[in-house]
Amino acid sequence: ETLINRIAAGEIIHRPASALKELLENSLDAGSTSIKVIVKDGGLKLLQIQDNGHGIRKSDLPILAERFTTSKLSTFSDLSRIATYGFRGEALASISHVARLSVTTKTKKDGHAWKATYSDGLLVPAKAGQSADPKPSAGNDGTIITIEDLFFNTPTRLSALRSSSEEYARILDVMTKYAIHNSKVAFQCKKAGSGSPELTTPANSTIPQAIKLLYGHTIANELIHVNVTSLGATDTDESMDVDDEEEEESWKAEVYFTNANYQAKKTNFLLFINHRLVDSPRMKRAVEAVYTSILPKGASPFVYLSLEVDPKNVDVNVHPTKKEVHFLNEDAITDKICSTMQVTLANQAT
Ligand code: ADP
Ligand code: MG
Repeated sequence: ETLINRIAAGEIIHRPASALKELLENSLDAGSTSIKVIVKDGGLKLLQIQDNGHGIRKSDLPILAERFTTSKLSTFSDLSRIATYGFRGEALASISHVARLSVTTKTKKDGHAWKATYSDGLLVPAKAGQSADPKPSAGNDGTIITIEDLFFNTPTRLSALRSSSEEYARILDVMTKYAIHNSKVAFQCKKAGSGSPELTTPANSTIPQAIKLLYGHTIANELIHVNVTSLGATDTDESMDVDDEEEEESWKAEVYFTNANYQAKKTNFLLFINHRLVDSPRMKRAVEAVYTSILPKGASPFVYLSLEVDPKNVDVNVHPTKKEVHFLNEDAITDKICSTMQVTLANQAT
């Protein structure tokens, strides 16, 4: 059974960056305004994330790393939110099957922090001879999740990874994207023992400020911003010639995209759907197609797209790690966003 759990966990946690994505989402879900990450060996030796969010109640600690635990936690009274937003309660459980996991956490009501250590979904003693119960600990309001020796018990997973510098680059990439999407939150990422962080963003930035900081000012000078909504607020196109089903659905998109002056070698497409970083090769192709008549051959844009749709229309049954995400009226929504981008780019060019 342990082996099966490990294999299943490896399907969810592919590499340090996928563990980090889950941890970042947890910290953001907890309302954090500051998130600090420390990494050793590309996250394979150590991946630690410290936030100042609402923390975890002590009574929830014993079941925290159980699979599908979310609905059993006292912090989660809103069961409909769990279902619609696709909380699955698999991340910490999975991590506990393929790494040494410990959690130090303090809610505002706690007088001090509690530290718990997990293995294979269960509380375990931090040191031999101790009990497995959470121990009183020093710590501020918020949560520190520490993952050590990722994939120590799944050598095949480990050997599939190339190098710690490659893994670190992926960690920085995930952090960069979340730091842009959550530009109000202060982010920091650094290697253990090193002085200055490789990535740092201040609190309360705007999205273009964060893009400028993380991708350089040459991008920032060439950024266009549009909002597109289901009610067609941005352009004055009266032709809402869509069927009833589509008209009822409401959605909104915020897009920051580069103009023809910006020419990168590869498309940089940051897609968030309901605040989750996702992949959609289909949307990426559609966005790239907008630029075929605008950029010279071989040149590519930067596009940040944040789409909010009714969570009940997103296919949460598609596993979170599956490459493609799907949602209702995907093609119609994509078309509308892309045509707005196209019109805006064309207007700028004249
Ligand atoms: P899910 O996020 O799908 O519920 P996870 O395994 O990622 O499942 O996390 C389990 C639960 O642990 C979360 O629902 C949340 O209640 C709690 N949790 C995890 N990380 C944090 C954090 N940084 N701050 C507060 N609560 C957290
Ligand atoms: Mg989670």
